[in-house]
Amino acid sequence: MIRLIVFLLLILTLANHARAQSTRISAPISDIRYEITADSAAVGRRQLGVSMSFHVGSAAPVILSLPAWSPGHYTLLWFARRVSDFSPTSNGTALAWRKLDFQTWEIQPRSAGNVRVSFQYLADAVDRAVAWTAPNFAFFNGTNLFLYPAGRGFNWPAHVSVRTEPSWKVATGMDPAAGANNFTARNYHDLTDMPFYVGRFALDSTRIADRWIRLAWYPAASLTPARRDRTFGWLRKFIPSDVAVFGEAPFRNYTLFQRSDTVVNGGGLEHQASQVDEVLTSQLDADYLAGLYSHEFFHAWNVKRLRPADLVPYRYDDAQPTTWLWVSEGVTDYYGALATVRGGLNDSTRFFDFIAGEIASVAGSPPTAVSDASLNSWINPTDGSSGLYYPKGGLIGFLLDVIIRDATDNRTSLDHVMRRLYVSTYKQHGRGFTGSEWWNEVSRAANGKSFADFARRYVDGREPLPVDSVLQLAGLRFHGDTIREPRLGISTSTDSTGLRITQLGSTGAAAAAGARAGDQIVSIGDVTITNDDSFDAFRSHYAGTRLTTLPLVVRRGTETLTLQLPIRLSTRVNATVEPVPNASAKAVAIRHGLLIGSPQVMAPLP
Ligand SMILES: [Zn+2]
Repeated sequence: MIRLIVFLLLILTLANHARAQSTRISAPISDIRYEITADSAAVGRRQLGVSMSFHVGSAAPVILSLPAWSPGHYTLLWFARRVSDFSPTSNGTALAWRKLDFQTWEIQPRSAGNVRVSFQYLADAVDRAVAWTAPNFAFFNGTNLFLYPAGRGFNWPAHVSVRTEPSWKVATGMDPAAGANNFTARNYHDLTDMPFYVGRFALDSTRIADRWIRLAWYPAASLTPARRDRTFGWLRKFIPSDVAVFGEAPFRNYTLFQRSDTVVNGGGLEHQASQVDEVLTSQLDADYLAGLYSHEFFHAWNVKRLRPADLVPYRYDDAQPTTWLWVSEGVTDYYGALATVRGGLNDSTRFFDFIAGEIASVAGSPPTAVSDASLNSWINPTDGSSGLYYPKGGLIGFLLDVIIRDATDNRTSLDHVMRRLYVSTYKQHGRGFTGSEWWNEVSRAANGKSFADFARRYVDGREPLPVDSVLQLAGLRFHGDTIREPRLGISTSTDSTGLRITQLGSTGAAAAAGARAGDQIVSIGDVTITNDDSFDAFRSHYAGTRLTTLPLVVRRGTETLTLQLPIRLSTRVNATVEPVPNASAKAVAIRHGLLIGSPQVMAPLP
């Protein structure tokens, strides 16, 4: 996942849940079928109709659960909280039921036979892991809707059919079955990892890396011919670079689902054969999107297939912490940037800027072990280390890449670590990698060099990363200026009427001035605010200022108000990474090797 807007999840208050989960095991059930109703009547109520049918061989209780989270989105969302009108029947007769915990229902069949369980699902959440509807559209993820029999494992096939308007489309990565809008999945993991778009949306496809790559975009008008061509152009450049690292494209086809709106939970969520992105309408032409897509695409290997053993198999009933998210997310961030350079989409300067940005992010965070930051993703810590496993994990990936190349005269790299782990754990055994397997492969790639000290100090410890000395090995150097600049503590969105506050941090300067969500910002001091770029002008204009307040002019309804904004300066590191002139031939070769990758020297897949 990558999150671009900090969202205040009220849901987190629920994370303090009592450990009262049921450990009861369901009677075995078979012939499992789901029917989802997403027609105009249902989405008009912002509801999805869900029905599950199955066969049960006795009158023993059937115990069904909904997931508490969605893989990739490492926070507890409790999808069951959106369920209403829960109703189990057999041959049209209502069956007795009760709740066993937050997400689990016990149903009492009267005899062996067929059972049907139906409910309504509230689909109004702006979150790329949760169902959402519009008058002509529905998005859902299987974790939201598909009940599973408790304690019976996840290796059972299922059939899904979607009931919708005849003229509406359905897009999913799931295998099609006989009949219109019917699909199958081999097991529950696949079933819940294939998001759906239903309704009126744009769909287009092209061949890249010998696979069908599709764009499914809502609203339909957001996929203009220019954006379609540009997006396919980006994908055509970076997908082959990812394939070169791992030696294969492991999906039959791949779908880039994208929804744009004036209010989004911006960012992306990865799946095994798709990604779901949410983008502000005002940013549909922003060039950061190439990096977002690239990050999510690399996840098709790293985390959806090559995954820490702690996350294999996924459990759905509770948090599943791991100290290795820095590999799953941080190293993905690193390769997301590398792939855009290796594919020729961005130049080397952009990659060096990316590394500089990771250095600045780490420098601006409290000293935190990246393994602890990984573990803490589930509680979204408030000490400033939230999400640190992205930049610090990315930076550690870069450092390891350079150290490995230095140890072998640029003959091996982090690419070898990624490919060998992918083959030896996921491909050959369908399992996750352990910590010792990770470090063994890093050491093997680096000609047997020990990384025990590196792991102790920089991954499991809180020592400052050896950035300067490792940059030198790649003929690079870092320069950082510390800047004190004003911050407002708000999230905003821009539309045709101007720029509005969407959220306020309760302790931020804008909140102290009396600004409210929904206010349109007109100006701050001497700076006129028209879009997000205006804030860069505001910050640089007032960097280091000795003023204590500034006039903040906002439009609220029909009124124009001038508020007094207290100036709150915070520290930012303005960082650059650049090539060193006259670096050694070895260092130049390493720098060049990073930018082109290592596929030419890697063995083919066994
Ligand atoms: Zn990610």
